[in-house]
Amino acid sequence: MNKHPAAMNYSDEEGSESEGLTPPFQTPKGMHDILPPDHEYHTYLKKIVRHRCRQAGFKRITTPILEYTEVFKRTIGEVTDIVSKEMYTFEDRKGRSLTLKPEGTASICRAYIQHGMQNLPQPVEFFYIEPHFRYERPQAGRYRQFWQFGFEVMGESDPALDAQAILLAYRIYGDLGIGDTLKLQINNIGDLNSRKIYTEALRDYYFGKERYLSEEDKQRLQKNPLRILDSKHEDTIILNQSAPKFKDFISKESQEFHDEVLEYLTDLGIPYEENETLVRGLDYYNQTVFEFWDGKKGAQNSVGGGGRYDGLMEILGGPATPAIGFAMGLERVIAQMKRNKVRVPSKDDLHVFVAQLGRQAKKTCLPLINELRDRGVKTMGALGKGAIKNQLKIADRFKVPYCVLIGLTEVREGTAIIRNMIKGSQKTVKMSEVVEEMVKAIGKNNLDFYDPKDPVNE
Ligand code: AMP
Repeated sequence: MNKHPAAMNYSDEEGSESEGLTPPFQTPKGMHDILPPDHEYHTYLKKIVRHRCRQAGFKRITTPILEYTEVFKRTIGEVTDIVSKEMYTFEDRKGRSLTLKPEGTASICRAYIQHGMQNLPQPVEFFYIEPHFRYERPQAGRYRQFWQFGFEVMGESDPALDAQAILLAYRIYGDLGIGDTLKLQINNIGDLNSRKIYTEALRDYYFGKERYLSEEDKQRLQKNPLRILDSKHEDTIILNQSAPKFKDFISKESQEFHDEVLEYLTDLGIPYEENETLVRGLDYYNQTVFEFWDGKKGAQNSVGGGGRYDGLMEILGGPATPAIGFAMGLERVIAQMKRNKVRVPSKDDLHVFVAQLGRQAKKTCLPLINELRDRGVKTMGALGKGAIKNQLKIADRFKVPYCVLIGLTEVREGTAIIRNMIKGSQKTVKMSEVVEEMVKAIGKNNLDFYDPKDPVNE
């Protein structure tokens, strides 16, 4: 197959050159379409997340898809992977630097300050469901555009709030049918001062051991030593085991805070593993950090994570505001659900397929379809020009339980044929009775109603 000439510019593209499409006429590298089968998972996830957040009094927030670059540079940290090499940054027409959101927290803190939310009753609790962008090396479970559900609890600090945040995440994973398959990892990385002292201790420890480190880890050691604890390189993992431990450096207050969080978790029956090498990749965290791991070996094993970020608001010029947040990657959650064969209840299955022949029949069909839908019967009509036989084949593929057939004879006699696709039987009824017949056959409890007056649930 000849490649499109423009494809030459996309030569680092890899993977699915599907269905005759070559770059640039396919999704950008590391990005994917969400097709209907996966949307069933997305819809289900959103439903669960909204439900749990509503129960907890969290409100939904959406910030713009991009921010001024400084918002991320200042908060996430200049020497983190995200800021140093993963941001989609560009200038607008006036030369202002903008960046597609690589994560949700910094933007929500910016919004908190911008809208004076410190004047609201605290804590202010938000959740979001949004796409984020990171220019990472794509691999299974790691994308350049991915969706996150996350929440933030801003304005108060207490170990009970940390435990409550973890509980909310834990319950959501449970509702999604993957709670038992995840392992909660938790650590306390102290306050800013103890982190500084600890960082120096790490540097000292690695002094003279650089030759055992990969290039990447050498860089980490230089720029952001804490990140070395995150290393996936075998030699570093072994060295990390004897490295100084955080808990010997964090203050007494942090240790007590941590112990209290753990106590609450135990009381709540949430299993956890203390993980002294868990630091998370962003600079703004302090005290509690946690992640949920899927138990698989390999790099992409975090299905969600969060932590406390008490200093972030001040970095953005806002008032001192302690806060804790959490985010889960929807693609990774869905992958875990599929691995665990979690079936998503779908409301999308059709009830009725209306097949017709001839222009007069089509005229009768349109109002009929409309009325069936209004009565809660999920109805699809074949409004093209195909033969009835072909239309029925389509109905078969949609696995509808009932077909309504209207041909020339039926139009003339004011009737319609109702075909039970499961039993293979059929009967002729008066046109004026079709809707009632169908409503009865589908059953009151199965009808799909939409009432615009229903309360709004975000
Ligand atoms: P983070 O704050 O970076 O730990 O991200 C929180 C969660 O988002 C992770 O636990 C993943 O589930 C998900 N996530 C982060 N980066 C990606 C990515 N590049 N592709 C897919 N999911 C991601």
